[in-house]
Amino acid sequence: MAVALAGLIRWSAHARSRTDAAWVGFLLAGMASMLGGGAILAYRNDTEGWLAALWLGGLLMALSATPLLWTLLGEARRRSEDPRTFAPAALRDRRAFVGIVVALVLGNELLMGWLFPIAAGGGALVVRPSLAGTVTALGVVVGSPWFLFPMAAEMGLTTVWLWTELDPALRVMLAFQSAMMVLSPPALPSAAWHASTIYLSSALMIGLFVYQMEWVYRHPRVGIALGRYTIRLLAVYALLMAGLYEWLATGSVALFAVAVLAEMVLFFSAVADAARFRDDDPFTWQLRPSWAVQLLGWVLVAELFMGALLDLEANGNGFLLLVPQLPLSGDAATIAAHAVSNGFWFVAVVTGSAGFLVMMGSEMGVLVALKIRETRRREQRLRLGLTIAAFAATTVYFPGFWNTVPISHLPPIGQVPVLGWTMGIGSGGGLAPGFFVAILVTYLLIGSMSALFGRRVLCSVLCSAATMYQGTLVDSMKSFNRSSPVGRKFLGTHFSSAYTVTTGVTLGSLAGASTISYLDAIGRLQWTVGGSDPTQFLFSFYFGVLWYVMFVTIPYTGNYNCVTMGWCHWGTWSQAFSRLGFFRLKVKDRTICQQCRTLDCAKSCPIGLVDMVGQLRTTGEFRSSKCCGVGNCVGACPYGNLYIHDVRHWWRGRRPAFSGTSADGVPLPMVRGSRPLTVRNATADVPRTSPGFTRSGGPSS
Ligand code: SF4
Ligand code: SF4
Repeated sequence: MAVALAGLIRWSAHARSRTDAAWVGFLLAGMASMLGGGAILAYRNDTEGWLAALWLGGLLMALSATPLLWTLLGEARRRSEDPRTFAPAALRDRRAFVGIVVALVLGNELLMGWLFPIAAGGGALVVRPSLAGTVTALGVVVGSPWFLFPMAAEMGLTTVWLWTELDPALRVMLAFQSAMMVLSPPALPSAAWHASTIYLSSALMIGLFVYQMEWVYRHPRVGIALGRYTIRLLAVYALLMAGLYEWLATGSVALFAVAVLAEMVLFFSAVADAARFRDDDPFTWQLRPSWAVQLLGWVLVAELFMGALLDLEANGNGFLLLVPQLPLSGDAATIAAHAVSNGFWFVAVVTGSAGFLVMMGSEMGVLVALKIRETRRREQRLRLGLTIAAFAATTVYFPGFWNTVPISHLPPIGQVPVLGWTMGIGSGGGLAPGFFVAILVTYLLIGSMSALFGRRVLCSVLCSAATMYQGTLVDSMKSFNRSSPVGRKFLGTHFSSAYTVTTGVTLGSLAGASTISYLDAIGRLQWTVGGSDPTQFLFSFYFGVLWYVMFVTIPYTGNYNCVTMGWCHWGTWSQAFSRLGFFRLKVKDRTICQQCRTLDCAKSCPIGLVDMVGQLRTTGEFRSSKCCGVGNCVGACPYGNLYIHDVRHWWRGRRPAFSGTSADGVPLPMVRGSRPLTVRNATADVPRTSPGFTRSGGPSS
């Protein structure tokens, strides 16, 4: 049956005439009438059952045979009227035809999932006559191996058979979908199957997300149909992951079933009308923030539920106990407030959990690794590598696995400087006297390292945000800093009124929460936020919820918006020391900047420091407390004129051997001589395909 269905779907993809379409409809309806009749007989194998089965079969056959006969007769008449000019009538309404095909395939699949378990010796499914009963029955049918495995076979077969005719990006997505369908955890009642498919399907989905994000990065122009398909597939997978989480937490397969059916509709409507992906009008995604937001948003929702699923599988109900849940009962206002609280804590607990961070780190880490591949400067490659290592150590390993570190007599993590307080106050516990030394040392260490090397120590290496922001796709979203309405308000080095308000609110909330937390700790107060210490609540709010909301809204607020808007107290602490310390950007020869017309350094900045060129031209260096030392500008300068200066250069600069050589040992470019400038390293560190980053030639000497 699966092979026959796959063959008919393939035929439908090739159908160009009404006759072909009528044959496909007739054969699919014939299969449905056969399976439907069988399903009726499974319940009533008596005279009435036979009569009902015959009636259903007859009705479906009549409904499908009529258009076929009508079409064949019409063709025969036209052929007899003028055999020389005869051509089969073209299929005009392809969308309606695809809709009928998808509905019939879906119907056949559901009947197979219903009937075959009965034929295999299972009892007939009892459906309670209510909406809940119908949904439950649907879940049982769709969650059965008789539905999922034939479905996966059909998807795989149609993908293989249509492989050469499919758009390259589409066929990769279809192949992923087929594999995902095989790895459906609810398909078999075995703990080993559940565990292995949960981990394998999560890994596969991470692979799909990486592929999609990298593909989008490499293709500034995306076909409309393919763009829509990508977003819809991500939405379906977000639903699928929510369904799997619900299934593992409660045993209900209803949401999972809805997601599988939605995926089927998406898949078969794509393969039955594959030609539309080839003749597609493209759009520039960097000019369409709504599309980019959906891309990031659905990926994040899918990852949230995937992270929760992994945590639930690894820790069982212990994970559920970590998520504060208020009852959804009472009046409407109470229900709404409890729902918001439950949603907040679900997101905050999941984004701080080991499962989510491992998965997120793997995905974003691969994108950073891809960025390393196209980065030529050694220093920059090294920093990107450190970013991945820092994510693994400070974001995943120490907070998530401190208790399982194989060393005895470990102190509580709150007493360990930096590792216990990775994001300052709130990240390691409440403000209690027992933690003072660790907190003080943490602030002193980060402050002094920022003074020596700049805030890049934190914002471009240690903070997990660095891995999230600097992968290929998200880095290319820096174009939104200049094009989005909110991003534009925070452009440049100056502190706008909006920036002052955001920073004031952040620092004020931290001061208030810290005071209350301390008074709680010494027994003078007993104020909590829903049972949580105020600083830990604030940490969950800023870094467990708000940070992700702002990440998804990058197309409207710009990349690195925690820095540009100043809503991270930890970054604000670091930037104060960075501004006072050794860190700055320097040029080897400022006359080059004065003649430069490309301004590539400013264009490549992910923080949107568009006014850096002015400083470079007048003083030969650039200092800004917003500068995170990402270093894109250094690689983007077509003349190799720019380098990052910190305490190492200050120290080495005191030695004569250092003068006359750039930071990475490259001889200084000549500008005052008669020889023209040679454009060096013109493609390093910036995406070659992104609009806004192309170079328009350099100055003449
Ligand atoms: S400002 Fe804060 S959240 Fe943003 S990169 Fe720096 S430390 Fe991380
Ligand atoms: S791109 Fe290079 S030469 Fe041009 S302004 Fe920037 S640092 Fe100077």
